[in-house]
Order: sequence, then C-alpha cells, then structure tokens
Amino acid sequence: MEKIQPTQEDNLHQTLLDLKEKTSVLEVPQVEREKMTSRTMEMVNTYDDHIRNLTWGPVKTADQGSLPVIGEIEEDPSEYDLVMQDFNAHLANGGINPGHPTMFGFVPCGHGTYPAAMGAFIPVTFATYSGIHWKSTSIVEMENKLITWVADLFGYPAGHAGNISSGGSLATLTALAVARDSRELKAADFHRCVIYCSEFAHYSVQKGLRAVGLREAILRTVPVDKLLKMTASGLERQIIEDTKTGLLPFLVAATVGTTLTGSVDPVNDIADVCDRHQLWLHVDAAYGGFFALCDEMKQLFVGVERSDSIVVNPHKGAYL
Ligand SMILES: *Cc1c(COP(=O)(O)O)cnc(C)c1O
Repeated sequence: MEKIQPTQEDNLHQTLLDLKEKTSVLEVPQVEREKMTSRTMEMVNTYDDHIRNLTWGPVKTADQGSLPVIGEIEEDPSEYDLVMQDFNAHLANGGINPGHPTMFGFVPCGHGTYPAAMGAFIPVTFATYSGIHWKSTSIVEMENKLITWVADLFGYPAGHAGNISSGGSLATLTALAVARDSRELKAADFHRCVIYCSEFAHYSVQKGLRAVGLREAILRTVPVDKLLKMTASGLERQIIEDTKTGLLPFLVAATVGTTLTGSVDPVNDIADVCDRHQLWLHVDAAYGGFFALCDEMKQLFVGVERSDSIVVNPHKGAYL
C-alpha cells in the first residue's frame, strides 16, 4: 500500500496537538474546579453579607499585629482551602476597606460594589483580549463605544480620541504626552515650559510630568479663592508674567473635583485664559467626572467641553 506523506499542514496540526497536551498541566480537573468555585463564591457571599450589614468597625492597623507573616514565595502549590483561610484571617479585614458601607474617607470606593466585582470577574474568566482591533473586533468596538459615550457626556466634539487605561495616573501621563507632542515641544525648551495647577491638583500631574520627560519644566501653583478653586485671574497674571520673562507657558491642569476637598476649578474661565494665551487645557476629572451624570451637578462642568484632554475614573464616582 502506498504510504501517504504527511503534508506540512498535518505536521503543524500535530505540533499544535502536542503543545495542547503539554500545556494541559495548567488545566484544573472538573472536581477541583467545582470545589474552587463553590468555596470562592461561599467566601464572597459570606464576606459580602457581613460587610454590608456592618454599621461600624475598627480598622486594624499594622501596630495591632493584623498583618500576616508572609513567608517566602515557594515553588510548590498550596492547598486552595489553606490559601483562602489565610486570606480570610489576615487580608480580608487587614486594613481600611473602601467597600464598607460607612467608608467615605477615601475616594476609590467603587471596588466594593457587587456588580463591579462581577464585572471584573467575568472578563478575567473569559480571558478577553482587547489589544488590537482585528484580533478582537467586538471588544475593541465596545471599548470605543464606551469612549464615545464618555466624550459625549462631557460634550466633546466629533473627532475626539481616547483610551481606557489602568487608572487616572496613567491616563494623566498619556494626556501629558499627547499635549507635549501635539504642541511639538522641543527637549531643548523643556526647562522653559510652564505648567499651571492649583495646590490641590493631584500628585499624578507632577509624577506624569517626570514620566514624560518634563522633569525640568516649571510647575506653577496658581492661587485659590476661599472655596479652594483656582483663580482664573491669578492664572492669567502668572502666564503674562512668565511670557514676559521668556518662559513658555504650555499647559493648565484644572481639577474638577480635587481629591482632598472636592473643589471644582472654574473650567470655563480657565478655558478663556487658555484660548487667549494658547495653552493646552487639561481637565483632571478623575474624581469628579462621573458626577456629570447628575443633573444638579451639570453647571459645575460648564467649559469642560472646551478642554483639550480629560481624565475620568470609573472607580471613583461611577462606583465601578
Ligand atoms: C485618584 C485621582 C487621580 C489618580 O487616579 P488613580 O486611578 O488613583 O491613578 C488623579 N486625579 C484625581 C483628582 C484623583 O482623585
């Protein structure tokens, strides 16, 4: 009988099957999976009931010895139940919990809502990939749709672009890089560039400036009024003075909802100043942004649509 030569395609197929066999060590047997799922859901539900019914509770701090003795990271696997026990004993209540119903002292409180937890769990289970449009069209389009929805919420005109990042700090860094490049700043001029914000601006602005190479740039603190809002007149005075002395006023970072006080800089007046002096207007609405969904807050957002870039955090005001 004639022997059929395997084609290149057959070989490739066989290689893939071999690889599948080799990577199957990552698979967890069905019985074990069911146990892990039920234990996890049990823990989540118990914890969720417990925390939602709490009205008050002390926070354990490091000096109360609540921290686990974290051993060396080992090669060998640990029993799932033991890991969970350790988690419950030491980590679940080991510090502040922004999900606690009376926890209003720290902004990223969104992590504690049940839909947000499920929303994080499902994509991780499905290992959704959203890096490249042609590889994952529907997910990328869903992201784009979300970005358009956010842009519309703030009245941005058509032609906007945006992305979803791991948080406000990285989003701020991205905005600063976009501003730097679209204004075509030259490295030789970085030391003359001036960035303006109030003393209540989030530290991610300063951190972002360093990360985008603008460490030498001058960061000016614009005075605030008695409601802790940046004063547009103070801003303009400073810009005029800086221009006179040969500096390059470049960007204003206005905050809509400062992290420490909730104050909202007068974006519309600041936009007028930016227009007059051709500065990039960045709005840091990481904390306050999603309050734009409330009708009674709308007036605080007047002028935001005139900004060149904006950052909003769903894990703050949107509780996600
Ligand atoms: C929280 C916050 C940021 C930074 O966001 P992260 O997601 O924590 O990186 C930036 N600006 C303001 C006003 C914030 O409140």
